[in-house]
Amino acid sequence: MNPSQIIARKRDGCRLTVPQIHTFIHGYTSGEIPDYQMAALAMAVYLQGMDSGETAALTEAMLDSGMRFTWPVGSPTCVDKHSTGGVGDKASLVLVPLLACCQVCVPMISGRGLGPTGGTLDKLESISGFRTDLSVAEIQAQTQRLGCVITGATHEIAPADRKLYALRDVTATVGSVPLITASIMSKKLAASLDVLVLDVKCGNGTFMETPSAACALADSLVETGTRMGVRTRALVTDMSQPLGRMVGNAVEVNEAVETLAGDGPADLRALVCRLGAELLVLAGVESSPAAAESRFDRLLASGQALERFEQMIQAQGGDLNQRRPLAPATEIRSPESGWVTEMNTRALSEAVISVGGGRHVMTDVIDPSVGLEMMVRIGDRVEQGARLARLYAHRGPQCALAESQIAQSIHIGEQPVECPSLIIDRRGA
Ligand code: URA
Repeated sequence: MNPSQIIARKRDGCRLTVPQIHTFIHGYTSGEIPDYQMAALAMAVYLQGMDSGETAALTEAMLDSGMRFTWPVGSPTCVDKHSTGGVGDKASLVLVPLLACCQVCVPMISGRGLGPTGGTLDKLESISGFRTDLSVAEIQAQTQRLGCVITGATHEIAPADRKLYALRDVTATVGSVPLITASIMSKKLAASLDVLVLDVKCGNGTFMETPSAACALADSLVETGTRMGVRTRALVTDMSQPLGRMVGNAVEVNEAVETLAGDGPADLRALVCRLGAELLVLAGVESSPAAAESRFDRLLASGQALERFEQMIQAQGGDLNQRRPLAPATEIRSPESGWVTEMNTRALSEAVISVGGGRHVMTDVIDPSVGLEMMVRIGDRVEQGARLARLYAHRGPQCALAESQIAQSIHIGEQPVECPSLIIDRRGA
């Protein structure tokens, strides 16, 4: 069957076979199938969907377009976590070194921020000298020596996804569950993982805004991972307000360090411990989530997790003692008394991007010194004139606009509301 016949089958709502999917992705990666045919198939998948067998075949074909890591026999259980992206989400910075203290290894291949969601690599690059361009050999060596690494995807990892993601971005086909699943899982599974936990964000600070949409994505990710022989679970977690207090790059590293030192905001710590407990139980390292969580409490209180983070930063060329100063701060105050009822999380993030803290297009350059510190959470009581947030930004007209956008994004109402639960659902057996 030629490429246009495969496109026509999907357009007409028929199932594609494993060989059809593999042939198409192989042809696209090698350049034999042009962008316009791939774009047509992506649109057909966007409109008609794929069942779980097709999604797994697509993931496998994209994974097979590149290399897979190999680990020596007898290596510790290889685990990873992936977040679908949210505002203030610095959980990986805390979780990765914490897990590396627990007899598992974590070779995390991470991404950059685009639009409202921040990127772990951008946050880490606010640390002077930190390298996110490790080679496959460096990733494998550091993982074996230290138990953890956080770095960017190399060109050898799922090249089909690199090409397809850029195409989806300009053909309105990003928001398709099978395409998102294959994109995320082909990159994650290249690390030859044993266990994977997904943090699927849900709310107005991420692309899955409703619990039903987030659960559908979580189910697709879990089913695909499981079919491909990886013990996989997902937590659907709240993104109707930023995670923790800080949004930005250097500010988020500071908050992660505080959390690793045993302090830090309660929601960030709770999320890290829940995700980590799922992983350790699935890895067979701990017998129950409660046992895993008390192990984390000890590692955070003793400074061991922070020490592992410092070792990872140093191994990748960074120096935590050389953290860049933050931009000057201004405070945003409440115009009235009442309760914080709601936040426009996306708009809060866009305010940070507008002062240089993120990207609209991939070529934008990030200013690591800018950021936002949230001083209230949904459900808090505030009095008129109370501090709502602090913006770290260089003075100018953009800064004034961002301040007013932040003020408008924090809604103050007359009636008290409950703070939303952090964990919305758990998917997987
Ligand atoms: N993240 C990815 O890596 N791919 C997608 O398609 C969406 C989010």
